[in-house]
Amino acid sequence: MTTKYLFFTGGVVSSVGKGVTAAATGLLLKSRGLKVTAQKLDPYINVDPGTMSPYQHGEVYVLDDGAETDLDLGHYERFIDIRLGRFSNFTTGQVYAEVIGNERRGDYLGGTIQVIPHITNEIKRRIGLAARETGADIVILEVGGTVGDIESQPFLEALRQLRNEVGRQNVFFIHVTWLPYIGATQELKTKPTQHSVAALRSIGISPNMIIARSDFPVEEGLRDKIALFCDVDKRAVVPMVTTPVLYEVPLLLEKAGVADYLIEKLGLQATAQPDWGPWRDMVERVKKPKMAVKIALVGKYVELKDAYMSVRESIKHAALAQDVEVDIQWVHSADLEKGKGWDLVRAADGIIVPGGFGSRGTEGKIQAAKYARENKVPYLGLCLGMQLMCIEFARNVLGYEDANSTEFDRSTTHPVIDLMLDQRSITDMGGTMRLGLYPCILQPGTKAAEAYGEKRVEERHRHRWEVNNAYRKEYEQAGMVFSGISPDGKLVEIAEIRDHPYMIGSQFHPEFLSRPMRPHPLFVGLVKAVKERAII
Ligand code: GLN
Repeated sequence: MTTKYLFFTGGVVSSVGKGVTAAATGLLLKSRGLKVTAQKLDPYINVDPGTMSPYQHGEVYVLDDGAETDLDLGHYERFIDIRLGRFSNFTTGQVYAEVIGNERRGDYLGGTIQVIPHITNEIKRRIGLAARETGADIVILEVGGTVGDIESQPFLEALRQLRNEVGRQNVFFIHVTWLPYIGATQELKTKPTQHSVAALRSIGISPNMIIARSDFPVEEGLRDKIALFCDVDKRAVVPMVTTPVLYEVPLLLEKAGVADYLIEKLGLQATAQPDWGPWRDMVERVKKPKMAVKIALVGKYVELKDAYMSVRESIKHAALAQDVEVDIQWVHSADLEKGKGWDLVRAADGIIVPGGFGSRGTEGKIQAAKYARENKVPYLGLCLGMQLMCIEFARNVLGYEDANSTEFDRSTTHPVIDLMLDQRSITDMGGTMRLGLYPCILQPGTKAAEAYGEKRVEERHRHRWEVNNAYRKEYEQAGMVFSGISPDGKLVEIAEIRDHPYMIGSQFHPEFLSRPMRPHPLFVGLVKAVKERAII
């Protein structure tokens, strides 16, 4: 079958849920037996988001092959339940770096290098890669940003060219826009959508479908108006009212007939009937009132919830499996250092300390780990959260007062967390951490092994520091168990406290492999322990 391309562009404003919409559409097509892959094109000039502050960009989502990518890739993987790779996300920075590299090598034989055709050709080459690498029937492709941004123009131009090259019948443009609500007159407005479609047209692209996001129900008349003014088939004007349950989006798109329309217009051959039973069940269970428990998420980027997107989703998945509602208490770790925010921690029945870099707020997180250990509060530490749990133990149980990670204190006399050997000579910051999938052997009889119910697992990593092996024996004698170890025995992957209901830290990031229908065992273990503590 010829590969079909579904291009998602955004109009009016950002943050309207373009990524979720694209991901959900992918699931609709997968449910019909089609092979789907997804790709995100980011117009910024950074090579990847790996070196960007989470405040700027939200979470950095890590793939199996170690690619550090946009958080939308998390939506694609969670909704469509696929595993993506490096080819699934690229930026203007990567495109230019490649073209400039070619130019320096002399590949262009003296030609003048221009946006068209050199940059657009490179963009098209990378789009083609996704189709080739995966053999997918359908490539879901999302262009970051909003139509009208200067940065996204070469991308849109490349898509326009591609439409002619692969044939119009194989390409479908979906424009996701926003209908603002005017309080004074109590009406939704379509004008910004019209303008944004006009902007798209001016560069030669006419959308085939408009998904109009809104906080309020969209009347039939408005659909007619959008269809008329934007020159789109009325069936292809899809209002999408905001839903508090993210995973309901595929059901809403299905109900709106999006998949049937795409199948018809792209001439796709569905090989299976969608069975929405289990997914609908899952959404119904999310909506059903349940016992509420509190988990304190002690982080340093808590003002921006997107910085912990996958952690938050993983909590939701596990909560669903345990039939509880988790109320996340967002606690700023630097506040804890000033004695603030402890009421939130104390009111919670569990604590998560997520990943992070740099020393700001680490002492607050260490205090949270101490509180969890001493009060037997369930705790899950993710990467940095695991390292800090080990530092706390070294300071307060092993008695090494100045124990630290050399990331925060180079001159500590007890570097219980130290830079990995192969990281010591690295000077470049981008893409040089220990990244991606690595195996971990679980030690029988431990809480981690029990949670997983497996002997060997593979998890995604993103770190430079590790537990210093020189202290391993001492730790173990004092009641810390290294329940997950790399196959060569050299690297601690999971640490847990023996005499504690559930205090586990992982050097990897389990949050990248949790799925709504397949919650991650370490999160399930945490929520289970939290529930048990809340009931007593
Ligand atoms: N900063 C720590 C390291 O590099 C932890 C990284 C993380 O939490 N992802 O090892």
